[in-house]
Amino acid sequence: MWRRKRTRRRRATSVTKHYQAHKEAARALVEARLAHYNQHYQLEWGRVAIRNQRRCWGSCSSLKNLNFNYKILFLPPHLQDYIIVHELCHLKEMHHGPSFWALVAEQVPAYQMYRTELRIIERAGHKVWETSARG
Ligand SMILES: [Zn+2]
Repeated sequence: MWRRKRTRRRRATSVTKHYQAHKEAARALVEARLAHYNQHYQLEWGRVAIRNQRRCWGSCSSLKNLNFNYKILFLPPHLQDYIIVHELCHLKEMHHGPSFWALVAEQVPAYQMYRTELRIIERAGHKVWETSARG
């Protein structure tokens, strides 16, 4: 029992350390890209939070606060930009209907390709063998 408990605590600490070490760099990246794309969209938001989430890359609350996963820092730039534009567009369109995707496409025309790419990365993160087996 004690052994299992200790292992779990140690892992939790290293995950937290990784998050703490990269959180501010993630924030700087997100805020710079938001400012860049907002020259086009001209939207307003509240707080930007950088979180350590397991599954979600970003979200936009009904209070217009933006949340991003700090692991966005480790994605290729075109996927970082897609996620940032995606959440930015939710400030105006709080759904995934055609008008939302049209808004995303104004700045990220290849968004469909990037969604697929992100799904492959997510799947690889959880089950590497599954991705390679599928080719
Ligand atoms: Zn969305």
